[in-house]
Parts: sequence; C-alpha cells; structure tokens
Amino acid sequence: MSEPEGRGDAWAEERGTSDKGRRRLESAPEASEPIIEVRDLTVHHGQLRALDRISLRVFPGEVYAIIGANGAGKSTLLRTIAGLNQPTEGTIRYDGKDVTRIRPERRATSGIAMVPEGRRLFGSLTVEENLQVGATYARTGPWTIERVYELFSWMKDRRAQRTEQLSGGEQQAVAIGRALVANPRVLLLDELSLGLAPVVVQRIYGMLPQILASGLTVLLVEQDVSQALRVASHLQCLLEGRTTLEGKPSDVTPEQVEAAYFGLRTAPAADGHEEALWPGSTTSSRGS
Ligand code: ATP
Repeated sequence: MSEPEGRGDAWAEERGTSDKGRRRLESAPEASEPIIEVRDLTVHHGQLRALDRISLRVFPGEVYAIIGANGAGKSTLLRTIAGLNQPTEGTIRYDGKDVTRIRPERRATSGIAMVPEGRRLFGSLTVEENLQVGATYARTGPWTIERVYELFSWMKDRRAQRTEQLSGGEQQAVAIGRALVANPRVLLLDELSLGLAPVVVQRIYGMLPQILASGLTVLLVEQDVSQALRVASHLQCLLEGRTTLEGKPSDVTPEQVEAAYFGLRTAPAADGHEEALWPGSTTSSRGS
C-alpha cells in the first residue's frame, strides 16, 4: 500500500479543510444531525457474515470514506444503505427517518443515489440516453443534463456516442452524471478508481468539490487509500466486515491506517500478549 499523501492541496483549500481552515470547519458538521446514520448493521450473504455490527454517522456536506481490502464488506455496506442488500440486524436512518425496510426505489427517489462498482451503464445506449435514465424520477434540484455537460466538458460533444465505446474513465464520468441528474442529497460512490489509470482517477475525483458545492454529501468506498485520504473528511476502515479504524484523516497516521487495512498487530506487549492496534472495535467514536 502506498503511503497516504498530504492533503494540504488545492482540494483542501477549496473545501476549506487546509490545515489552517481545518480546525474551524471540521467541527461544523458535527453540530448538525447526521444525514445517514447506520447502527449495528449486520449483513449476511448466505452463511457468510459480510458485515458485523457496523455503525457510522455521516454529516451533511461530508466526504465520508470507507476503506478496506478486497472482501472487507465495503460494497455490501454501500449496497445495504441503498437498499440493494437486506440487513440481518441493525438500522439505517436517512435524514432522521428509519429506512431500513424501505425499498431501494423509494430510497433513490427520496435522495440516495449510488454509482455502483463497475458503473453498470447501458452500453448500447448513448451518453445522453444514459443520463436521461438517471433523470427519469429526478427530484428537483440544481443538476440537469446540461450541468453535467458543464462538469465534464468533453461529454457534450460525445453525447450521441454509445457508452460501450467510451474509455473506462469516460464511462465512470457518465455513471456519476447519471447519479447527479437524479438530484440526490447523498451520493454513494463505489470504487471510482477501479481499473482506471491514476491520472484518470485524479481527474474523476477532481469533480468532487463542485459536487459538494451543490450541497451534496458523499459516502464513498475506496481500495485506493491515498486517494481516499486525499478527499475524505472522515475515514472508516473495514476488515472482514468489522471496523478496525475510524476517525478524521488528520488524526490518524499512515502506520495506523496500514495496520487497520491489513489487520496487522502491534509487537508483543510486555506481558507477552499480542495486541491489535484497533481490536475490532465496532463502536463509532461519533456513534451515540
Ligand atoms: P471488493 O473490493 O472486492 O468488492 P468489498 O470490501 O467491497 O470488496 P464485498 O463485495 O462487500 O467486499 O464482499 C464482502 C464479502 O461478501 C466477500 O467475502 C464477498 O466474497 C462476499 N460477497 C459479496 N457479495 C456476495 C454475494 N452476492 N453472494 C455471496 N457472497 C458475497
């Protein structure tokens, strides 16, 4: 795993989360109610316990990043919040309301949109047709197809092209646009970087400030830890369905992230016992 890079960049300045502004702004979201609150969520795929009592609270305007290795349960978590997987136990609240048993379509029309892993575009449809699909049951809000074309400047000229003819990065942009035109309040992004070259990943993530400026909250899943740390205001690491680390990126060290990601343990303690750095805590520090 590459070492997480510093975040004192233009992105941080734009969000007001540079080291200078970080202290001032990071306390702000916590004063409001969470827009997404997950409590003790357990999800099974058959006999497999993919998530084990996961809790998290996402506040309006945040970029909340879930990181973890293959099979950690990241996609399952996102899909369960979107209503595509059913939990065995636990609750999901959206904007203060319990949506745990609400159908995925209703969650979507009430403002939870997902960009799924692998994009899932209609390959034989054009760029614009894919965007129109996203706009079918749109809420009212700032995002229109024209505005998506402004966000991704290349897209308008290619609007009549079938999406199966686009590159992976271009397809990812269309998938994001398709989610945006529904005018969600919460955007769930599953592995945006998957299969894309680093420069393309940077470009894709480059649009996040504009998305946040339109009032959205972002909950994203990433295997690319450096990328997640670069954009996140809050971080949660999963390992085999459990939370191994949770906090603000500014409060964790690269060593802590690496240990949580791989499930590494500290050196044996004086009493001879080996202790985990984060002993599988499922308690969110912001949970109540
Ligand atoms: P990846 O980055 O590989 O997608 P992930 O952290 O998103 O990993 P999940 O896809 O949520 O992890 O998978 C968690 C566990 O659940 C894995 O062991 C996976 O094999 C299993 N799993 C996921 N979906 C299913 C399914 N539909 N049926 C059976 N097992 C599943």
